[in-house]
Amino acid sequence: MTDRYAVFGNPIAHSLSPKIHAFFARDTGEELSYEPILVPEGRFADKAHEFFCDGKGCNVTVPCKLDAYAFADVLTPYAEAAGAVNTLKKLEDGRIEGDNTDGRGLTADLKRLGVKLKGSKVLVMGAGGAARGIIRPLQDENPVLITIVNRTIEKAKKLAEHFGVTACSYEELSAEYDVIINATSTSLNGTLPPLTDEIFRKASFAYDLMYKPDGETVFTKKAFENGCTGVADGFGMLIMQAALSFELWRCVKPDVTKAINYFRAC
Ligand code: NDP
Repeated sequence: MTDRYAVFGNPIAHSLSPKIHAFFARDTGEELSYEPILVPEGRFADKAHEFFCDGKGCNVTVPCKLDAYAFADVLTPYAEAAGAVNTLKKLEDGRIEGDNTDGRGLTADLKRLGVKLKGSKVLVMGAGGAARGIIRPLQDENPVLITIVNRTIEKAKKLAEHFGVTACSYEELSAEYDVIINATSTSLNGTLPPLTDEIFRKASFAYDLMYKPDGETVFTKKAFENGCTGVADGFGMLIMQAALSFELWRCVKPDVTKAINYFRAC
């Protein structure tokens, strides 16, 4: 029987994951199926139990990442640190393992883009689910400083305390960062976090977790216009986190550069 995989979320019809995993499967010669599963409110556990009767693994997206965290029997240190799960895998003994590949997807994409994190000063904007998932993998790369800045400062402080990094408000922020990462949802509605032009000017790389088909978001545009030499949207991160899930399930590494080039050209 063909091994079965899926992505759970609501809404789910727009998800690129089925296309990305179909591409990986074709390209690596792995035989598998991958389907989108719509989760009605409050029904994640029922749907996941049903799926894992014969399913091998799944991705989990908004708004089900916390439900998936609660559903997992065992958690990887990344899922534990993120407090959320985006990948579930059925283990040999039948238990369900929860992982979070989002943050490692980001650091893998930054490496692909030639961004040096070791010894760098990193600014993370936002203190929501995405920010929480990226801090631990960023720490693994040994930057000298990670600062979390958020509109609601209490949330930034809480997150910073959890991970042992620093936090401040936008008003307190100085222009000293090498890499600035937008983990707010501002680009989704075409707005910007309140950063001074000087912060953009001093940074060598600006990364927006949100992605657009042409690769340009309001944030990457603003950074580029202010002389920030390197910019990228989060499309590479999307492909990288999917590739890490695929590898977890199949023990095969997909060609991520080929996938990014293929989907960018679509
Ligand atoms: P959340 O809703 O959990 O958090 C949103 C964050 O944005 C909060 O910190 C919020 O601040 C901040 N924010 C919202 N509006 C403003 C504003 N006007 N000014 C300043 N800050 C603001 O969202 P997520 O963390 O889940 O997602 C964040 C982004 O990351 C989204 O764009 C999402 O698409 C992207 N993402 C990309 C992935 C990828 O693979 N490329 C993976 C996961 C996420 P406050 O706390 O004050 O409300």
